[in-house]
Amino acid sequence: MRVRAILFAALIFAAPAFADDQATALKRGFQLLDAWRVDEARSIAESLWARSPEDGSVLALIAEVKLHMSDYEGAASFYEKARDAGAPEVLTRNASLALAARAATQGYAETVTERFVIRYSIGKDEILVPYAEETLEKALASLSDLLGWKPSGRIVVELYPSASTLADVSTLTREEIKNSGTIALCKWNRLMVTTPRAVVFGYHWRDTLAHELAHLVIGGASKNTVPIWLHEGIAKFVETSWRGAPGLGLPIESQRSLADAAKKGKLIPFARMHPSMAKLKNQEETSLAFAEVFTFVEYLVELKGWESMRGVLAKMAEGESDAQAIEHVFGVPLTTLSDQWMASLKNRKIKVEGVEQGADRKVVIKDKSDAPDDALHGVSKEGRRYARAADLLFSRGRSKAAQVELEKAVKASSAPLLEAKLAVVALANGDLVAAERAARGALAGNNDLAGPHVTLAEILIRGKNPAAAIEPLQGALAVNPFDPRIHELLLRAGKDDPTISTRAKAAIRVLQAPKKTAPALGTGGIVIVEGLPFSRVFVDDVATGLVTPTAELELSPGKHKLRLVPPIGPAIERDVVVDANKGPAPQRLAPDMRGS
Ligand SMILES: [Zn+2]
Repeated sequence: MRVRAILFAALIFAAPAFADDQATALKRGFQLLDAWRVDEARSIAESLWARSPEDGSVLALIAEVKLHMSDYEGAASFYEKARDAGAPEVLTRNASLALAARAATQGYAETVTERFVIRYSIGKDEILVPYAEETLEKALASLSDLLGWKPSGRIVVELYPSASTLADVSTLTREEIKNSGTIALCKWNRLMVTTPRAVVFGYHWRDTLAHELAHLVIGGASKNTVPIWLHEGIAKFVETSWRGAPGLGLPIESQRSLADAAKKGKLIPFARMHPSMAKLKNQEETSLAFAEVFTFVEYLVELKGWESMRGVLAKMAEGESDAQAIEHVFGVPLTTLSDQWMASLKNRKIKVEGVEQGADRKVVIKDKSDAPDDALHGVSKEGRRYARAADLLFSRGRSKAAQVELEKAVKASSAPLLEAKLAVVALANGDLVAAERAARGALAGNNDLAGPHVTLAEILIRGKNPAAAIEPLQGALAVNPFDPRIHELLLRAGKDDPTISTRAKAAIRVLQAPKKTAPALGTGGIVIVEGLPFSRVFVDDVATGLVTPTAELELSPGKHKLRLVPPIGPAIERDVVVDANKGPAPQRLAPDMRGS
Protein backbone atom coordinates (compact mmCIF):
# COMPACT_ATOMS: atom_id res chain seq x y z
CA MET A 1 0.00 0.00 0.00
CA ARG A 2 2.89 2.31 0.74
CA VAL A 3 4.06 1.90 -2.87
CA ARG A 4 0.87 3.45 -4.11
CA ALA A 5 1.21 6.46 -1.84
CA ILE A 6 4.72 7.18 -3.11
CA LEU A 7 3.74 6.74 -6.73
CA PHE A 8 0.81 8.98 -6.16
CA ALA A 9 2.98 11.73 -4.72
CA ALA A 10 5.18 11.54 -7.81
CA LEU A 11 2.16 11.81 -10.07
CA ILE A 12 0.98 14.93 -8.37
CA PHE A 13 4.28 16.68 -8.98
CA ALA A 14 4.12 15.66 -12.62
CA ALA A 15 0.66 17.15 -13.10
CA PRO A 16 0.72 20.89 -12.47
CA ALA A 17 -2.86 21.23 -13.73
CA PHE A 18 -4.06 20.08 -10.29
CA ALA A 19 -5.02 22.84 -7.96
CA ASP A 20 -2.84 22.42 -4.91
CA ASP A 21 -5.65 21.89 -2.45
CA GLN A 22 -7.34 19.39 -4.73
CA ALA A 23 -4.13 17.40 -5.09
CA THR A 24 -3.68 17.39 -1.33
CA ALA A 25 -7.26 16.30 -0.78
CA LEU A 26 -6.94 13.49 -3.32
CA LYS A 27 -3.76 12.22 -1.75
CA ARG A 28 -5.39 12.36 1.67
CA GLY A 29 -8.42 10.47 0.36
CA PHE A 30 -6.31 7.56 -0.87
CA GLN A 31 -4.23 7.58 2.31
CA LEU A 32 -7.37 7.40 4.44
CA LEU A 33 -8.60 4.38 2.48
CA ASP A 34 -5.28 2.66 3.10
CA ALA A 35 -5.65 3.57 6.78
CA TRP A 36 -9.10 1.92 6.96
CA ARG A 37 -10.71 5.31 7.67
CA VAL A 38 -13.26 4.91 4.94
CA ASP A 39 -15.88 7.33 6.29
CA GLU A 40 -13.32 10.14 6.28
CA ALA A 41 -12.16 9.19 2.78
CA ARG A 42 -15.78 9.19 1.64
CA SER A 43 -16.31 12.76 2.84
CA ILE A 44 -13.30 13.89 0.81
CA ALA A 45 -14.54 12.01 -2.26
CA GLU A 46 -17.95 13.63 -1.85
CA SER A 47 -16.54 17.15 -1.86
CA LEU A 48 -14.18 16.42 -4.77
CA TRP A 49 -17.11 14.94 -6.71
CA ALA A 50 -19.09 18.11 -6.18
CA ARG A 51 -16.15 20.20 -7.50
CA SER A 52 -14.47 18.14 -10.22
CA PRO A 53 -16.73 15.33 -11.42
CA GLU A 54 -14.77 14.89 -14.67
CA ASP A 55 -11.27 14.58 -13.22
CA GLY A 56 -9.69 11.15 -13.77
CA SER A 57 -8.08 10.90 -10.33
CA VAL A 58 -11.27 12.08 -8.60
CA LEU A 59 -13.21 9.40 -10.50
CA ALA A 60 -10.61 6.84 -9.39
CA LEU A 61 -10.99 7.90 -5.76
CA ILE A 62 -14.77 7.55 -6.05
CA ALA A 63 -14.34 4.10 -7.61
CA GLU A 64 -12.11 3.11 -4.70
CA VAL A 65 -14.60 4.49 -2.16
CA LYS A 66 -17.37 2.56 -3.91
CA LEU A 67 -15.35 -0.64 -3.67
CA HIS A 68 -15.04 0.06 0.07
CA MET A 69 -18.81 0.65 0.27
CA SER A 70 -19.47 -2.66 -1.55
CA ASP A 71 -20.98 -1.03 -4.65
CA TYR A 72 -19.10 -3.21 -7.12
CA GLU A 73 -21.08 -2.29 -10.21
CA GLY A 74 -20.48 1.37 -9.47
CA ALA A 75 -16.81 0.82 -8.68
CA ALA A 76 -16.30 -1.03 -11.98
CA SER A 77 -18.04 1.74 -13.88
CA PHE A 78 -16.07 4.53 -12.16
CA TYR A 79 -12.72 2.75 -12.63
CA GLU A 80 -13.55 2.65 -16.33
CA LYS A 81 -14.56 6.32 -16.41
CA ALA A 82 -11.38 7.17 -14.50
CA ARG A 83 -9.24 5.33 -17.05
CA ASP A 84 -11.02 7.06 -19.92
CA ALA A 85 -10.37 10.40 -18.23
CA GLY A 86 -6.67 9.62 -18.03
CA ALA A 87 -6.30 8.45 -14.41
CA PRO A 88 -2.93 6.80 -13.85
CA GLU A 89 -3.00 2.99 -13.97
CA VAL A 90 -1.81 2.67 -10.36
CA LEU A 91 -5.06 4.23 -9.12
CA THR A 92 -7.36 1.83 -10.97
CA ARG A 93 -5.70 -1.50 -10.39
CA ASN A 94 -8.38 -2.71 -7.97
CA ALA A 95 -10.83 -2.78 -10.87
CA SER A 96 -10.48 -6.56 -11.17
CA LEU A 97 -11.51 -6.97 -7.50
CA ALA A 98 -14.66 -4.96 -8.16
CA LEU A 99 -15.48 -7.05 -11.23
CA ALA A 100 -14.99 -10.31 -9.31
CA ALA A 101 -17.14 -9.16 -6.38
CA ARG A 102 -19.81 -7.89 -8.76
CA ALA A 103 -20.06 -11.27 -10.48
CA ALA A 104 -20.06 -13.16 -7.16
CA THR A 105 -22.74 -11.10 -5.41
CA GLN A 106 -25.14 -10.20 -8.21
CA GLY A 107 -28.74 -9.94 -7.05
CA TYR A 108 -27.97 -9.95 -3.31
CA ALA A 109 -30.65 -8.71 -0.94
CA GLU A 110 -29.81 -6.05 1.65
CA THR A 111 -31.10 -5.42 5.14
CA VAL A 112 -30.24 -2.04 6.63
CA THR A 113 -29.90 -1.87 10.42
CA GLU A 114 -28.89 1.04 12.61
CA ARG A 115 -25.15 0.51 12.10
CA PHE A 116 -24.91 -2.25 9.46
CA VAL A 117 -25.90 -3.18 5.94
CA ILE A 118 -26.28 -6.96 5.75
CA ARG A 119 -26.06 -8.33 2.21
CA TYR A 120 -26.93 -11.96 1.46
CA SER A 121 -27.77 -14.26 -1.40
CA ILE A 122 -31.50 -14.67 -1.82
CA GLY A 123 -32.80 -17.88 -0.30
CA LYS A 124 -32.26 -19.71 2.98
CA ASP A 125 -29.55 -17.39 4.32
CA GLU A 126 -32.30 -14.86 5.03
CA ILE A 127 -32.85 -16.67 8.35
CA LEU A 128 -29.40 -15.56 9.49
CA VAL A 129 -30.21 -11.87 9.19
CA PRO A 130 -32.02 -11.04 12.47
CA TYR A 131 -29.49 -13.04 14.47
CA ALA A 132 -26.61 -11.43 12.60
CA GLU A 133 -28.08 -8.01 13.35
CA GLU A 134 -28.35 -8.75 17.06
CA THR A 135 -24.80 -10.09 17.21
CA LEU A 136 -23.30 -7.23 15.23
CA GLU A 137 -25.05 -4.40 17.07
CA LYS A 138 -24.03 -5.86 20.45
CA ALA A 139 -20.51 -6.56 19.23
CA LEU A 140 -20.02 -3.03 17.92
CA ALA A 141 -21.00 -1.58 21.28
CA SER A 142 -18.65 -3.80 23.28
CA LEU A 143 -15.73 -3.73 20.83
CA SER A 144 -15.71 0.02 20.45
CA ASP A 145 -15.66 0.33 24.26
CA LEU A 146 -12.76 -2.10 24.59
CA LEU A 147 -10.73 -0.81 21.65
CA GLY A 148 -11.61 2.87 21.71
CA TRP A 149 -12.82 3.47 18.17
CA LYS A 150 -15.77 2.92 15.88
CA PRO A 151 -16.54 3.92 12.31
CA SER A 152 -19.02 6.75 11.88
CA GLY A 153 -20.91 5.07 9.03
CA ARG A 154 -22.74 1.78 8.59
CA ILE A 155 -20.59 -1.29 8.04
CA VAL A 156 -21.28 -3.71 5.21
CA VAL A 157 -21.48 -7.41 6.03
CA GLU A 158 -21.76 -10.01 3.30
CA LEU A 159 -23.02 -13.54 3.95
CA TYR A 160 -21.79 -15.94 1.28
CA PRO A 161 -23.67 -19.10 0.27
CA SER A 162 -20.46 -21.15 -0.05
CA ALA A 163 -16.78 -21.02 0.77
CA SER A 164 -15.95 -20.81 -2.92
CA THR A 165 -17.69 -17.42 -3.05
CA LEU A 166 -15.24 -16.27 -0.39
CA ALA A 167 -12.40 -17.38 -2.67
CA ASP A 168 -13.99 -15.57 -5.62
CA VAL A 169 -14.18 -12.23 -3.83
CA SER A 170 -10.89 -12.40 -1.92
CA THR A 171 -7.24 -12.94 -2.68
CA LEU A 172 -7.28 -16.37 -1.01
CA THR A 173 -7.37 -19.51 -3.14
CA ARG A 174 -9.87 -22.35 -2.62
CA GLU A 175 -6.95 -24.54 -1.56
CA GLU A 176 -5.87 -22.08 1.15
CA ILE A 177 -9.45 -21.78 2.37
CA LYS A 178 -9.89 -25.56 2.58
CA ASN A 179 -6.57 -26.22 4.31
CA SER A 180 -6.75 -23.44 6.85
CA GLY A 181 -10.51 -23.68 7.44
CA THR A 182 -10.83 -19.93 6.83
CA ILE A 183 -14.50 -19.13 6.46
CA ALA A 184 -14.52 -15.39 7.01
CA LEU A 185 -12.43 -12.30 6.34
CA CYS A 186 -12.44 -8.58 6.91
CA LYS A 187 -11.03 -6.50 4.08
CA TRP A 188 -11.99 -3.51 1.95
CA ASN A 189 -14.15 -2.21 4.79
CA ARG A 190 -16.49 -5.17 4.80
CA LEU A 191 -17.04 -8.35 6.76
CA MET A 192 -17.16 -11.43 4.54
CA VAL A 193 -18.67 -14.45 6.24
CA THR A 194 -19.58 -17.85 4.84
CA THR A 195 -22.97 -19.28 5.79
CA PRO A 196 -22.84 -22.12 8.34
CA ARG A 197 -24.70 -24.38 5.91
CA ALA A 198 -21.50 -24.54 3.86
CA VAL A 199 -19.59 -26.20 6.72
CA VAL A 200 -20.01 -29.76 8.03
CA PHE A 201 -22.04 -29.41 11.28
CA GLY A 202 -21.93 -25.62 10.92
CA TYR A 203 -19.56 -23.44 12.95
CA HIS A 204 -19.59 -20.61 15.49
CA TRP A 205 -20.80 -18.13 12.93
CA ARG A 206 -22.03 -15.50 15.41
CA ASP A 207 -18.68 -15.33 17.21
CA THR A 208 -17.06 -15.20 13.79
CA LEU A 209 -19.13 -12.15 12.84
CA ALA A 210 -17.92 -10.45 16.02
CA HIS A 211 -14.35 -11.59 15.26
CA GLU A 212 -14.35 -10.03 11.79
CA LEU A 213 -15.93 -6.86 13.16
CA ALA A 214 -13.09 -6.70 15.68
CA HIS A 215 -10.63 -6.70 12.76
CA LEU A 216 -12.45 -3.73 11.25
CA VAL A 217 -12.33 -1.82 14.54
CA ILE A 218 -8.65 -2.67 15.16
CA GLY A 219 -7.81 -1.53 11.62
CA GLY A 220 -9.61 1.77 12.02
CA ALA A 221 -8.31 2.41 15.54
CA SER A 222 -4.69 1.86 14.47
CA LYS A 223 -5.01 3.27 10.93
CA ASN A 224 -4.25 -0.18 9.56
CA THR A 225 -0.81 -0.49 11.12
CA VAL A 226 -1.23 -3.56 13.34
CA PRO A 227 0.74 -6.69 12.31
CA ILE A 228 -1.19 -9.92 11.75
CA TRP A 229 -0.21 -11.63 15.00
CA LEU A 230 -1.52 -8.77 17.13
CA HIS A 231 -4.58 -8.25 14.89
CA GLU A 232 -5.57 -11.89 15.29
CA GLY A 233 -4.70 -11.98 18.98
CA ILE A 234 -6.98 -9.07 19.81
CA ALA A 235 -9.77 -10.22 17.47
CA LYS A 236 -9.75 -13.76 18.86
CA PHE A 237 -9.68 -12.45 22.41
CA VAL A 238 -12.62 -10.05 22.03
CA GLU A 239 -14.83 -12.19 19.75
CA THR A 240 -16.93 -13.43 22.69
CA SER A 241 -17.53 -9.98 24.18
CA TRP A 242 -20.88 -9.60 22.36
CA ARG A 243 -22.40 -12.42 24.44
CA GLY A 244 -20.40 -12.25 27.65
CA ALA A 245 -16.87 -11.42 28.66
CA PRO A 246 -13.91 -11.15 26.30
CA GLY A 247 -11.42 -14.01 26.49
CA LEU A 248 -13.80 -17.02 26.43
CA GLY A 249 -12.98 -18.16 22.91
CA LEU A 250 -10.16 -20.62 23.60
CA PRO A 251 -11.47 -24.15 24.32
CA ILE A 252 -9.93 -26.07 27.20
CA GLU A 253 -8.29 -28.62 24.93
CA SER A 254 -6.67 -25.86 22.82
CA GLN A 255 -5.32 -24.34 26.03
CA ARG A 256 -3.80 -27.72 26.91
CA SER A 257 -2.22 -28.15 23.46
CA LEU A 258 -0.73 -24.68 23.79
CA ALA A 259 0.83 -25.48 27.17
CA ASP A 260 2.20 -28.65 25.64
CA ALA A 261 3.72 -26.85 22.65
CA ALA A 262 5.25 -24.28 25.01
CA LYS A 263 6.88 -27.00 27.12
CA LYS A 264 8.25 -28.72 24.02
CA GLY A 265 9.52 -25.43 22.57
CA LYS A 266 7.27 -25.87 19.54
CA LEU A 267 5.56 -22.49 19.42
CA ILE A 268 5.16 -20.78 16.05
CA PRO A 269 7.07 -17.47 15.95
CA PHE A 270 4.82 -14.41 15.47
CA ALA A 271 6.74 -13.48 12.32
CA ARG A 272 5.64 -16.73 10.62
CA MET A 273 2.02 -15.64 10.98
CA HIS A 274 2.61 -13.00 8.33
CA PRO A 275 0.99 -12.21 5.87
CA SER A 276 -2.04 -14.25 6.94
CA MET A 277 -2.98 -16.99 9.39
CA ALA A 278 -4.85 -18.53 6.47
CA LYS A 279 -1.51 -19.22 4.85
CA LEU A 280 -0.15 -21.48 7.63
CA LYS A 281 0.37 -25.16 6.78
CA ASN A 282 -2.76 -26.75 8.24
CA GLN A 283 -5.55 -26.26 10.77
CA GLU A 284 -3.43 -27.61 13.64
CA GLU A 285 -0.84 -24.90 13.01
CA THR A 286 -3.53 -22.25 12.59
CA SER A 287 -5.17 -23.32 15.81
CA LEU A 288 -1.87 -23.21 17.74
CA ALA A 289 -1.03 -19.80 16.30
CA PHE A 290 -4.41 -18.44 17.42
CA ALA A 291 -3.93 -19.88 20.91
CA GLU A 292 -0.54 -18.16 21.14
CA VAL A 293 -1.64 -14.71 20.13
CA PHE A 294 -4.83 -15.02 22.18
CA THR A 295 -2.87 -15.72 25.35
CA PHE A 296 -0.34 -13.01 24.56
CA VAL A 297 -3.15 -10.45 24.44
CA GLU A 298 -4.58 -12.00 27.61
CA TYR A 299 -1.16 -11.55 29.22
CA LEU A 300 -0.99 -7.88 28.21
CA VAL A 301 -4.53 -7.15 29.35
CA GLU A 302 -3.90 -8.84 32.70
CA LEU A 303 -0.80 -6.70 33.15
CA LYS A 304 -2.32 -3.31 32.43
CA GLY A 305 -5.99 -3.58 31.47
CA TRP A 306 -7.86 -2.57 28.32
CA GLU A 307 -6.69 1.01 28.67
CA SER A 308 -3.25 -0.28 27.64
CA MET A 309 -4.62 -2.02 24.55
CA ARG A 310 -6.37 1.18 23.50
CA GLY A 311 -3.12 3.02 24.16
CA VAL A 312 -1.11 0.68 21.91
CA LEU A 313 -3.59 1.07 19.04
CA ALA A 314 -3.65 4.86 19.41
CA LYS A 315 0.16 5.08 19.50
CA MET A 316 0.36 2.96 16.38
CA ALA A 317 -2.19 5.23 14.67
CA GLU A 318 0.22 8.08 15.44
CA GLY A 319 2.97 6.24 13.59
CA GLU A 320 4.79 4.16 16.20
CA SER A 321 5.66 0.55 15.32
CA ASP A 322 4.12 -2.32 17.30
CA ALA A 323 7.33 -2.71 19.31
CA GLN A 324 7.58 1.04 20.01
CA ALA A 325 3.92 1.37 20.98
CA ILE A 326 4.05 -1.65 23.29
CA GLU A 327 7.25 -0.44 24.98
CA HIS A 328 5.74 3.04 25.27
CA VAL A 329 2.62 1.75 27.01
CA PHE A 330 4.09 -1.10 29.08
CA GLY A 331 7.49 0.42 29.82
CA VAL A 332 9.15 -2.87 28.87
CA PRO A 333 10.46 -3.97 25.44
CA LEU A 334 8.20 -6.24 23.37
CA THR A 335 10.91 -8.95 23.32
CA THR A 336 11.00 -9.00 27.13
CA LEU A 337 7.21 -9.16 27.32
CA SER A 338 7.10 -11.97 24.82
CA ASP A 339 9.77 -13.92 26.76
CA GLN A 340 7.80 -13.43 29.97
CA TRP A 341 4.59 -14.51 28.27
CA MET A 342 6.27 -17.62 26.85
CA ALA A 343 7.60 -18.54 30.29
CA SER A 344 4.16 -17.93 31.81
CA LEU A 345 2.54 -20.41 29.39
CA LYS A 346 4.14 -23.36 31.16
CA ASN A 347 2.24 -22.52 34.35
CA ARG A 348 -0.76 -20.72 32.89
CA LYS A 349 -3.93 -21.77 34.68
CA ILE A 350 -6.40 -23.40 32.30
CA LYS A 351 -9.44 -21.16 32.01
CA VAL A 352 -12.60 -23.24 32.46
CA GLU A 353 -15.52 -20.97 33.35
CA GLY A 354 -17.69 -20.19 30.32
CA VAL A 355 -15.20 -21.91 28.01
CA GLU A 356 -15.78 -24.89 25.75
CA GLN A 357 -14.16 -28.19 26.57
CA GLY A 358 -13.25 -29.82 23.29
CA ALA A 359 -10.65 -28.36 20.99
CA ASP A 360 -11.87 -26.22 18.13
CA ARG A 361 -13.67 -28.64 15.87
CA LYS A 362 -11.86 -28.85 12.57
CA VAL A 363 -13.66 -26.82 9.94
CA VAL A 364 -14.61 -29.09 7.07
CA ILE A 365 -15.92 -27.15 4.13
CA LYS A 366 -18.66 -28.83 2.13
CA ASP A 367 -18.16 -29.23 -1.58
CA LYS A 368 -21.79 -28.31 -1.92
CA SER A 369 -23.62 -26.18 0.65
CA ASP A 370 -26.63 -27.90 2.22
CA ALA A 371 -25.16 -31.36 1.55
CA PRO A 372 -26.37 -33.57 4.44
CA ASP A 373 -23.86 -34.15 7.24
CA ASP A 374 -22.55 -37.63 7.96
CA ALA A 375 -24.03 -38.02 11.43
CA LEU A 376 -20.98 -40.00 12.57
CA HIS A 377 -18.27 -37.87 10.96
CA GLY A 378 -14.92 -38.78 12.57
CA VAL A 379 -16.29 -41.55 14.85
CA SER A 380 -14.03 -44.60 15.29
CA LYS A 381 -14.61 -47.87 13.40
CA GLU A 382 -15.79 -49.63 16.54
CA GLY A 383 -18.17 -46.82 17.39
CA ARG A 384 -19.59 -46.94 13.89
CA ARG A 385 -20.17 -50.67 14.15
CA TYR A 386 -22.31 -50.24 17.26
CA ALA A 387 -24.12 -47.33 15.68
CA ARG A 388 -24.92 -49.35 12.56
CA ALA A 389 -26.30 -52.19 14.65
CA ALA A 390 -28.40 -49.68 16.59
CA ASP A 391 -29.74 -48.18 13.35
CA LEU A 392 -30.76 -51.62 12.15
CA LEU A 393 -32.57 -52.40 15.40
CA PHE A 394 -34.23 -49.01 15.41
CA SER A 395 -35.47 -49.40 11.84
CA ARG A 396 -37.05 -52.74 12.83
CA GLY A 397 -38.96 -51.06 15.61
CA ARG A 398 -36.69 -52.45 18.32
CA SER A 399 -35.81 -49.05 19.73
CA LYS A 400 -35.13 -50.27 23.30
CA ALA A 401 -32.51 -52.70 21.99
CA ALA A 402 -31.07 -49.91 19.86
CA GLN A 403 -30.66 -47.81 23.00
CA VAL A 404 -28.80 -50.64 24.74
CA GLU A 405 -26.49 -50.99 21.75
CA LEU A 406 -25.72 -47.27 21.74
CA GLU A 407 -25.09 -47.25 25.47
CA LYS A 408 -22.43 -49.88 24.81
CA ALA A 409 -21.05 -47.77 21.98
CA VAL A 410 -20.75 -44.70 24.21
CA LYS A 411 -18.98 -46.78 26.84
CA ALA A 412 -16.55 -48.11 24.22
CA SER A 413 -15.68 -44.72 22.72
CA SER A 414 -17.12 -41.62 24.29
CA ALA A 415 -17.57 -39.74 21.01
CA PRO A 416 -19.97 -36.78 21.32
CA LEU A 417 -21.70 -37.83 18.09
CA LEU A 418 -22.52 -41.24 19.54
CA GLU A 419 -23.91 -39.63 22.66
CA ALA A 420 -25.94 -37.32 20.44
CA LYS A 421 -27.41 -40.37 18.70
CA LEU A 422 -28.10 -42.09 21.99
CA ALA A 423 -29.99 -39.01 23.15
CA VAL A 424 -32.23 -39.14 20.08
CA VAL A 425 -33.01 -42.84 20.51
CA ALA A 426 -33.60 -42.54 24.27
CA LEU A 427 -35.94 -39.61 23.61
CA ALA A 428 -37.86 -41.73 21.10
CA ASN A 429 -38.17 -44.37 23.83
CA GLY A 430 -39.55 -41.76 26.21
CA ASP A 431 -36.56 -42.32 28.51
CA LEU A 432 -36.08 -38.64 29.31
CA VAL A 433 -33.50 -39.22 32.02
CA ALA A 434 -31.15 -41.25 29.81
CA ALA A 435 -31.81 -38.87 26.91
CA GLU A 436 -30.90 -35.78 28.92
CA ARG A 437 -27.77 -37.42 30.31
CA ALA A 438 -26.62 -38.38 26.81
CA ALA A 439 -27.41 -34.97 25.28
CA ARG A 440 -25.56 -33.15 28.04
CA GLY A 441 -22.68 -35.59 27.68
CA ALA A 442 -22.46 -34.87 23.96
CA LEU A 443 -22.43 -31.13 24.62
CA ALA A 444 -19.81 -31.36 27.34
CA GLY A 445 -17.43 -32.80 24.75
CA ASN A 446 -18.40 -30.51 21.90
CA ASN A 447 -20.52 -27.52 22.64
CA ASP A 448 -20.41 -26.61 18.97
CA LEU A 449 -22.75 -29.34 17.77
CA ALA A 450 -26.26 -28.19 16.96
CA GLY A 451 -27.87 -31.66 17.08
CA PRO A 452 -27.59 -32.45 20.81
CA HIS A 453 -28.66 -28.87 21.62
CA VAL A 454 -31.87 -29.47 19.71
CA THR A 455 -32.44 -32.87 21.33
CA LEU A 456 -31.83 -31.40 24.77
CA ALA A 457 -34.34 -28.63 24.08
CA GLU A 458 -36.94 -31.16 23.03
CA ILE A 459 -36.31 -33.21 26.18
CA LEU A 460 -36.76 -30.11 28.34
CA ILE A 461 -39.96 -29.11 26.57
CA ARG A 462 -41.37 -32.63 26.93
CA GLY A 463 -40.33 -32.58 30.57
CA LYS A 464 -42.50 -29.46 30.99
CA ASN A 465 -39.61 -27.06 31.36
CA PRO A 466 -39.86 -25.01 28.15
CA ALA A 467 -38.14 -21.92 29.56
CA ALA A 468 -34.95 -23.93 30.10
CA ALA A 469 -35.04 -25.02 26.45
CA ILE A 470 -34.22 -21.54 25.18
CA GLU A 471 -30.56 -21.72 26.15
CA PRO A 472 -29.76 -24.93 24.22
CA LEU A 473 -31.76 -23.60 21.28
CA GLN A 474 -29.60 -20.47 21.31
CA GLY A 475 -26.62 -22.83 21.32
CA ALA A 476 -27.96 -24.53 18.18
CA LEU A 477 -28.66 -21.19 16.47
CA ALA A 478 -25.11 -20.07 17.09
CA VAL A 479 -23.73 -23.06 15.18
CA ASN A 480 -26.16 -24.18 12.52
CA PRO A 481 -29.60 -22.56 12.41
CA PHE A 482 -30.80 -24.35 9.26
CA ASP A 483 -32.52 -27.22 11.09
CA PRO A 484 -36.24 -26.29 11.05
CA ARG A 485 -36.79 -28.08 14.39
CA ILE A 486 -34.80 -25.33 16.11
CA HIS A 487 -37.35 -22.73 15.09
CA GLU A 488 -40.35 -24.95 15.75
CA LEU A 489 -39.07 -25.61 19.27
CA LEU A 490 -38.25 -21.93 19.76
CA LEU A 491 -41.83 -21.12 18.93
CA ARG A 492 -42.97 -23.41 21.73
CA ALA A 493 -40.28 -22.52 24.26
CA GLY A 494 -40.43 -18.79 23.66
CA LYS A 495 -44.12 -18.27 23.00
CA ASP A 496 -44.31 -15.44 25.54
CA ASP A 497 -41.37 -13.57 24.02
CA PRO A 498 -42.46 -11.61 20.93
CA THR A 499 -38.90 -11.28 19.55
CA ILE A 500 -38.28 -15.01 19.75
CA SER A 501 -41.61 -15.95 18.20
CA THR A 502 -41.46 -13.39 15.38
CA ARG A 503 -38.00 -14.55 14.37
CA ALA A 504 -38.94 -18.22 14.67
CA LYS A 505 -42.06 -17.78 12.52
CA ALA A 506 -40.09 -15.90 9.88
CA ALA A 507 -37.37 -18.59 9.83
CA ILE A 508 -39.93 -21.39 9.45
CA ARG A 509 -41.50 -19.50 6.56
CA VAL A 510 -38.13 -19.01 4.84
CA LEU A 511 -37.03 -22.62 5.34
CA GLN A 512 -40.33 -23.93 3.96
CA ALA A 513 -40.27 -21.73 0.88
CA PRO A 514 -37.03 -19.82 0.40
CA LYS A 515 -37.26 -16.97 -2.10
CA LYS A 516 -35.58 -17.79 -5.39
CA THR A 517 -34.60 -14.52 -7.06
CA ALA A 518 -34.80 -10.80 -6.51
CA PRO A 519 -37.85 -9.10 -8.07
CA ALA A 520 -37.05 -7.59 -11.46
CA LEU A 521 -37.08 -3.82 -11.87
CA GLY A 522 -38.03 -3.87 -15.53
CA THR A 523 -36.40 -2.50 -18.64
CA GLY A 524 -36.82 0.45 -20.96
CA GLY A 525 -35.59 3.38 -18.86
CA ILE A 526 -31.93 3.93 -18.06
CA VAL A 527 -31.20 6.17 -15.08
CA ILE A 528 -28.35 7.42 -12.95
CA VAL A 529 -29.21 8.30 -9.35
CA GLU A 530 -27.23 11.10 -7.74
CA GLY A 531 -27.25 12.62 -4.29
CA LEU A 532 -24.94 13.55 -1.43
CA PRO A 533 -23.90 12.06 0.90
CA PHE A 534 -23.10 8.89 -1.09
CA SER A 535 -26.12 6.70 -0.29
CA ARG A 536 -27.28 3.15 -1.00
CA VAL A 537 -30.10 2.97 -3.51
CA PHE A 538 -33.25 0.86 -3.22
CA VAL A 539 -35.96 0.96 -5.89
CA ASP A 540 -39.44 -0.28 -4.99
CA ASP A 541 -37.86 -1.90 -1.90
CA VAL A 542 -35.39 -3.89 -3.99
CA ALA A 543 -31.68 -3.45 -3.24
CA THR A 544 -29.87 -2.31 -6.36
CA GLY A 545 -26.46 -2.81 -4.72
CA LEU A 546 -25.59 0.68 -5.97
CA VAL A 547 -24.45 3.80 -4.15
CA THR A 548 -24.98 7.36 -5.41
CA PRO A 549 -23.70 8.63 -7.84
CA THR A 550 -24.72 5.33 -9.42
CA ALA A 551 -23.66 3.42 -12.47
CA GLU A 552 -26.40 3.18 -15.09
CA LEU A 553 -29.46 1.38 -13.79
CA GLU A 554 -32.30 0.05 -15.91
CA LEU A 555 -35.91 0.39 -14.71
CA SER A 556 -39.29 0.10 -16.32
CA PRO A 557 -40.74 3.47 -17.43
CA GLY A 558 -43.29 4.92 -14.99
CA LYS A 559 -43.52 5.64 -11.29
CA HIS A 560 -41.04 4.16 -8.81
CA LYS A 561 -40.32 4.51 -5.14
CA LEU A 562 -36.72 5.51 -4.51
CA ARG A 563 -35.21 4.89 -1.07
CA LEU A 564 -31.80 6.36 -0.35
CA VAL A 565 -29.90 5.11 2.69
CA PRO A 566 -27.15 7.52 3.74
CA PRO A 567 -23.98 6.24 5.42
CA ILE A 568 -25.60 6.83 8.79
CA GLY A 569 -29.06 7.93 9.97
CA PRO A 570 -32.53 7.39 8.51
CA ALA A 571 -33.33 6.70 4.89
CA ILE A 572 -35.25 9.15 2.74
CA GLU A 573 -37.96 8.10 0.31
CA ARG A 574 -38.98 9.87 -2.89
CA ASP A 575 -41.41 9.03 -5.68
CA VAL A 576 -39.81 9.39 -9.07
CA VAL A 577 -41.01 9.03 -12.64
CA VAL A 578 -38.81 7.31 -15.20
CA ASP A 579 -39.34 7.99 -18.89
CA ALA A 580 -38.84 5.49 -21.68
CA ASN A 581 -35.36 5.96 -23.09
CA LYS A 582 -35.29 8.01 -26.25
CA GLY A 583 -31.55 8.27 -26.87
CA PRO A 584 -28.45 6.66 -25.41
CA ALA A 585 -28.12 9.24 -22.62
CA PRO A 586 -29.35 8.07 -19.21
CA GLN A 587 -31.84 10.16 -17.21
CA ARG A 588 -30.48 11.80 -14.10
CA LEU A 589 -32.45 11.36 -10.91
CA ALA A 590 -31.15 13.74 -8.27
CA PRO A 591 -33.70 13.84 -5.47
CA ASP A 592 -33.44 16.44 -2.76
CA MET A 593 -31.74 14.61 0.11
CA ARG A 594 -32.63 17.14 2.80
CA GLY A 595 -35.31 16.17 5.26
CA SER A 596 -38.06 13.76 4.42
ZN1 LIG B 1 -9.11 -13.14 12.30
